Amino acid sequence: MSQMAQKHGAINLSQGFPDFSPAAELLKSAHQYLESGHNQYAPMSGTPMLLAAIARKIAQTYGKDVNPETDITVTSGATAALFCAIQAFVHPGDEVIIFDPAYDSYKPAIILAGGKAIHIPLLPPAFSIDWNHVEASITPQTAMIIVNSPHNPTGSVLSADDIENLRNIVRDTRIILLSDEVYEHIVFDGLQHESLLRDDELAERSLVVSSFGKTFHTTGWKIGYCVAPQQLMKEFQRIHQFVQFCVVTPMQLALADFLENHPESYEDLPRFYTQKRNLFANLLEQSRFRITPSAGTYFQLADYKEISDHTDTEFTRWMTIEKGVAAIPISVFYETPPAQQLVRFCFAKSDTTLEEAAEILCKI
Ligand code: PMP
Repeated sequence: MSQMAQKHGAINLSQGFPDFSPAAELLKSAHQYLESGHNQYAPMSGTPMLLAAIARKIAQTYGKDVNPETDITVTSGATAALFCAIQAFVHPGDEVIIFDPAYDSYKPAIILAGGKAIHIPLLPPAFSIDWNHVEASITPQTAMIIVNSPHNPTGSVLSADDIENLRNIVRDTRIILLSDEVYEHIVFDGLQHESLLRDDELAERSLVVSSFGKTFHTTGWKIGYCVAPQQLMKEFQRIHQFVQFCVVTPMQLALADFLENHPESYEDLPRFYTQKRNLFANLLEQSRFRITPSAGTYFQLADYKEISDHTDTEFTRWMTIEKGVAAIPISVFYETPPAQQLVRFCFAKSDTTLEEAAEILCKI
């Protein structure tokens, strides 16, 4: 969709990346590390400074002590962390439960590992998890459950009840949890992000993945990390070692400094993105799109059935080429797309971009 948007000069609210700059101090710090000779391989799990800064952030945010030397690995974006986790823990014949609509990198990695993805649909309109369905889907082959909260593409978030259900379901099983929490700092309306790291019992069997791309507006740096208890992390690193070995040194150092010196930059994200979510939602009130404001992430689903009965792929193609605004059809996140007319807009954009896009959307 981004390519199509570019080709047709459309405003790109499709792919999830900010159209504004990261903090000047972060950029300056990366520049200084580049200039001052920090240009060789980092240690395999990450630079000690960044590992320590991540551990402190986790202690402060989730009240969880993790050992920076053994329980964290810095990766080439969350994508590499998800890939390594799946290759490490999914073996031929294993089943992995994923929830549709599902982020697109999970299934190919499961297939490559010789596993089978078991798709469970999230329940609209809130896109919540049907835990009875999950329980009924567990077999002796179930090796992993992948959860994603805050959730791309729907903007839903897991609640404390969800965590309790998950805990009860996996107790006394061999199931490993892979928790994609890349939008951990983007939650709205006073909600608390229910990281699996908050729950000691679940954390024992979990690999938790995050991304500085989302937290510091640096998606192009492709730096993320995985957190897990030492025995799981050892297995993870057996894959990580040969997939990437280590991640770009000067950026790791810059991120470490920034995390230490500016915790307010991620603590302020709910306020920062609430303003954008509300601006976009208010502007769309005059349109024929119907929305329920998102609870987390920088994505907003919109129902277009008052406008068209075309499929979401046809509709987004038409909207990009003929109207000049690109969005993502959410059917692409499903194994079996249900009959619904929903598209996903990304509101991680400057206010001007959002206003220009909304002006067009209100005329559709
Ligand atoms: N998981 C989810 C749910 C995402 O939305 C994204 C980014 N679009 C990723 C993982 C990948 O993150 P990264 O860019 O750090 O690889």
